[in-house]
Amino acid sequence: MDQYLNFVNGQWRTGSTGEWDENRNPAKPSEVLGRSTRSSTADVAEAVTLAATAQREWVRVPRPARGAMLEKVAQILRRRVDEIAPVLTREEGKCLNEARGEVMKAVNVLEFTASEGRRPTGQVIPSDMPGTFIYTTRTPLGVVGIITPWNFPICIPAWKIGPALLEGNAVVFKPATLTPGTAMLLVKAFEEAGLPPGVVNLVYGSGSVVGNAIVDDKRVAAISFTGSNEVGIAIHARAAKRLARTQLEMGGKNPVIVLADADLDQAVEATVMGAFGSTGQRCTATSRVIIERSVHQPFMTKLLERARRIKVGDGMTDPTAMGPVVDMSQFRSVLAAIESARLEGAKLVLGGERVGVEGPNTGYFIAPTIFDEVKPEMKLAREEVFGPVLAVIPVDGGFDEAIRVANAVEYGLSSSIYTRDIQRVMQYADRVETGILHVNSPTVGGEAQAPFGGVKATGLGGREMGSTGPEFFCEIKTVYIDYNSNVRQGNLY
Ligand code: NAP
Ligand code: MG
Repeated sequence: MDQYLNFVNGQWRTGSTGEWDENRNPAKPSEVLGRSTRSSTADVAEAVTLAATAQREWVRVPRPARGAMLEKVAQILRRRVDEIAPVLTREEGKCLNEARGEVMKAVNVLEFTASEGRRPTGQVIPSDMPGTFIYTTRTPLGVVGIITPWNFPICIPAWKIGPALLEGNAVVFKPATLTPGTAMLLVKAFEEAGLPPGVVNLVYGSGSVVGNAIVDDKRVAAISFTGSNEVGIAIHARAAKRLARTQLEMGGKNPVIVLADADLDQAVEATVMGAFGSTGQRCTATSRVIIERSVHQPFMTKLLERARRIKVGDGMTDPTAMGPVVDMSQFRSVLAAIESARLEGAKLVLGGERVGVEGPNTGYFIAPTIFDEVKPEMKLAREEVFGPVLAVIPVDGGFDEAIRVANAVEYGLSSSIYTRDIQRVMQYADRVETGILHVNSPTVGGEAQAPFGGVKATGLGGREMGSTGPEFFCEIKTVYIDYNSNVRQGNLY
C-alpha cells in the first residue's frame, strides 16, 4: 500500500494530525491503493513559512533558468508516462489511454511554459517627456496557493504550478483528497529535477482544514483554484477579506449546437466523445446538444447507435473503456440527477442506471445516459451533472433560438457548433457566451499554448495556459527613467 506524505522544504513527512485518508479505486472500491497523511493548519503555516524563505532565493534565479527547470520536469514526466498513467487510472477511474493523454498534456504545458522563460516579459512605452524611458517589468507575488480537483489531477496542477514558478513564486499545493498518488508523482518530478527545497510544497488534507488554512494565511498572496462553484465562491469571499488575488475555474454546461446543414456523422462522433469521454467528468464535457428540429430524428438515430457501442468497464484492463465515476458520492449525485431529470419529464432514451450488480466491490459504473426532448428550463439543461449524462434539446427557432438556448445558463466554459455556413460560424463566435469555442470539433480539450478558461459563473481571474497563463502570478511594475533632467529643465510632468 502506498503512503502519500507531505513534501515540505524538500522533505517527505507526515502531517501533524496522525490521521490518514484512504485512496480507493473507483473501479473496485474495496481495493485500497494507499493512504495520504492528513495535515493541520499548523502544517500549512509551516509550509508557508518555508516557502516564503525559499522564494527569496528562487526569484534570484534568472527567468530562463527557471524555465529550464520546468523543461526538466517535463522530460521526467515524459519518461515516466507509463508509470504515472496507471496510478491515475486506478485512483481516478479514467481509462489508460485518457490517463496517458493527460500526462502528455502536463508535459506539453510544462514545455510551453519553459519556452516562455526566454520570451520578452514587458513593454517599452513612448513617453510624453523628452529623454524619458518607460518600460514595464514583472515581479512575483511571493507565496501562492494552488488548490486543484480530482478530475485532471496531474495536468491542472502542472498548468498552475508551472507558470507560478516561472514568475518566481513559491507554491503551497493542496491536491484533491481523492487523487493523492498523481499529485505525489508530479511533485516527485520537481524534486528529481533538482528544484530547490521549499519552492514547491505539497500539503495533503481536507479542503475545509488545509484549503481554508491556505486561503486564510496572510502571507499567501494569491490562490489559483479549479473545482466546484460552491467552493470557488467560498474561497473568493474569504480571500477578499484580506485582498488576496484569486483565480477560479469552475463548472460548465457546455453545448454542441447542431444546425440543419451539419455533417451529422461528425457531429455525432464529437458529441459522443465530448459527453462520454473521461466518463463526462471533464469541465469541458458536452452536456447539451442543441439541435434544429429538421435534423433531430436522423441525428438521434445515429447518436443512439454510436453511444450503444461504448464499452463501460475498468480502464486498466480495457484502455479504451468508459471508466467509473470517481467515488460513491459522485455516483449518488449523478444517479440523483438522472432521477430528477426523469421526474421533470425529460425522455430517457439510453442508460440511466448503474452498470453491474450492486456489491461491495462493484465499481461506480454508470451507463452512458441520454435524455431527449429536454426543455431549456429544466434543471437537467441548466445544472452541471459531472457524469456521463447528455441532454438533447431540439429547437424550432433556427440559429437564433439555438444561440439563445446555448447562452441561457449561468456557465460559460466551452461550446461547439456544427455547420458548414461561414456566416453562421462567425455570428456564433461573436454571440456565444463561452471562453472557448469550437467549430466542427468537440467541446473538450485545449492546447497548452492557447488561453483556457470560462466566462460568467465559470471563471474569474484571467486565463490559464498559453502566454496569458503566467499573468495571474505576477505584478507589473512600470518604470520611468528620466535621462534629460526634466524637472531642472522645467518640463511639466
Ligand atoms: P471541489 O469539491 O470544489 O474541490 C476542488 C478542490 O478544492 C479540492 O482540492 C478540495 O479538497 C478543495 N476544497 C474543498 N473545500 C474547500 C474549502 N472549503 N476551501 C478550500 N478548498 C476546498 O471540486 P471537485 O469535486 O474536486 O471537482 C469537480 C468540479 O471541478 C466540477 O464542478 C468541475 O466543473 C470543476 N472543474 C472545472 C474546471 C475548469 O477549468 N473550469 C476543470 C476541472 C474541474 P478535497 O478534495 O479535500 O475536498
Ligand atoms: Mg481514489
